[in-house]
Amino acid sequence: MSIDLKTDGRFYELEEMVRANCQDCIGCCDCCTGMGDSIILDPYDVQVLKKELGKTMEQLLQQGLLSLGMDRGLVLPHIQMDPVSDRCPFLSGEGRCSIHAYRPGMCRLFPLGRNFEDGKLTYILLTEECKKRNRSKIKVSQWLGVTPAKTYHEFVFAWHEFRKKLTALLADMEEERIKEVLMFVLKAFYFDEELHAEDVFANLFWKIKDMEKRLGVCDNTD
Ligand code: SF4
Ligand code: SF4
Repeated sequence: MSIDLKTDGRFYELEEMVRANCQDCIGCCDCCTGMGDSIILDPYDVQVLKKELGKTMEQLLQQGLLSLGMDRGLVLPHIQMDPVSDRCPFLSGEGRCSIHAYRPGMCRLFPLGRNFEDGKLTYILLTEECKKRNRSKIKVSQWLGVTPAKTYHEFVFAWHEFRKKLTALLADMEEERIKEVLMFVLKAFYFDEELHAEDVFANLFWKIKDMEKRLGVCDNTD
């Protein structure tokens, strides 16, 4: 399925200014309701969420905050909208994000999008998705609000590359083996309770390399 999203036609680098700043979404929570299973979480999102909330992955699932689903061939967690109100479970009664400081990458990004092309990650501005029309300019890195910004940017790219290698590997596998590998990857990146100890980025970079070796999808240069 192709989704026709309008952009301003530019590709922004991490330290470039972009007209994305919707002043902390004050008065609007459109992106936090009715999102279905579209707020997919990467391993950094989940490790930070577990650390800040003091919950395990099992607890996040059991308490209905997250669910597992398929995303482009992989089993990955996403935020579970409330089945009655269709609101994000982290949205407060006042319409504010109760986990703002450690909200997932997809929530940080909007109204930007990610563009993976020519071996690098750049950012695009979705011009018709955000309801606020008086957005001001801000550096992409500042908008994302994760420090160190360059390390976060590199992690997002590394995770994307890992997904690409994994998808190619799965394409040649039998169905039963695919299920095993998907569960192996899910457990390694999301259920591991050690990954958020100390330097979460260092742990995640190490985990990606380790999993590439275990799955036999290393680059020749590794
Ligand atoms: S985590 Fe926060 S920003 Fe993201 S959808 Fe939920 S309430 Fe909105
Ligand atoms: S539509 Fe824009 S202002 Fe409203 S919640 Fe989404 S990003 Fe924020």
